[in-house]
Amino acid sequence: MAEISKFTAFATPTTDLVDATNNTNLYDILCPRDNCRCLVLRKGAATLVKRDPIKPLDESDVPSTNEHFWHVGDMMDFDNVGFSKTVGDTKFLSCADCDVGPLGYHNIAHQPKEYLISIDCARYRPRN
Ligand SMILES: [Zn+2]
Repeated sequence: MAEISKFTAFATPTTDLVDATNNTNLYDILCPRDNCRCLVLRKGAATLVKRDPIKPLDESDVPSTNEHFWHVGDMMDFDNVGFSKTVGDTKFLSCADCDVGPLGYHNIAHQPKEYLISIDCARYRPRN
């Protein structure tokens, strides 16, 4: 079984995690929680983009200030994903298995549709 790495294991994640030929994810993207093996996005399913960081739900809950996200344009591109709260135009994405989140967000007003998973709210597993 291939080993799962935390985001912090990568020295330069915006290059280490990315296939330079097409800007897609070079690793399977898994739930960030240690004992959860939920596959969120398969290798090659998403592209790296820069967006506004995840809006904190309150001051004590800042999941990530990272501006880099894995982007997909269709819900069906996920292997597994859940929705937690909706606040205004923002639907927060969570792990489908353990509900940890927010891992990212979906702005319902944004066209074309996009679903974003923060690159530091995930773990990474190599795939051949
Ligand atoms: Zn999980």
